[in-house]
Amino acid sequence: RFITLEGGEGVGKSTNLALVVGHLRACGHEVVATREPGGTPRAEDIRRLLLDPGEEEPLDPDAELLLVFAARAQHLARVVRPALARGAWVVCDRFTDATYAYQGGGRGIEASRIAALETFVQQGLEPDLTLLLDMPMAAAQRRLDGRLRGQGAARDRFESERAEFFEAVRQAYLARAASAPERMVVIDAGADLDEVKAELLARLDERMAT
Ligand code: C5P
Repeated sequence: RFITLEGGEGVGKSTNLALVVGHLRACGHEVVATREPGGTPRAEDIRRLLLDPGEEEPLDPDAELLLVFAARAQHLARVVRPALARGAWVVCDRFTDATYAYQGGGRGIEASRIAALETFVQQGLEPDLTLLLDMPMAAAQRRLDGRLRGQGAARDRFESERAEFFEAVRQAYLARAASAPERMVVIDAGADLDEVKAELLARLDERMAT
């Protein structure tokens, strides 16, 4: 089974990913925890290109989109498909919904152009379940500001983008979820951590029970 976790910045994706992975392992499944963009050494090289602020030569949105899918092709070939083929569960931090959200909603690339690459690269492979952590932008921004202060504000290109960008990302994610209710579950990530945790595990068990 292939499970993906999605959400904007500051919604608690890492914490919740660890929770999902721990839960599935406790159920006795072999779990491969991975992420996009990245997940293999070469795909992580591509991730570095994507996150490079590159102020001297901004990355063209189409070039960005192609890099995201290049990283995805490598990751699918080397990690995801082999794991699924041997019966492991794959839990991935971001996948193609993030492409529709960031490169689509955020950078303004038409969904049909993203869909063409999705078909080309994924050849029908889709997550079985996608958990979307959602919370209002302002609250996520507050969490993120706290975290960045704590880390000496090491901001990457994406984190220094405008509030509008993040709102567009959030709306694109929500639109994706509305169009694929069978696959995508929206979790209110603004609730207390314990509530988010309970909700997440309940949805996971409900959707993934065989
Ligand atoms: O998931 P994580 O927060 O580690 O992602 C790193 C950054 O990559 C994020 O800040 C996100 O804005 C960006 N990203 C992107 N397009 C994607 C996936 C991630 O712009 N398709």
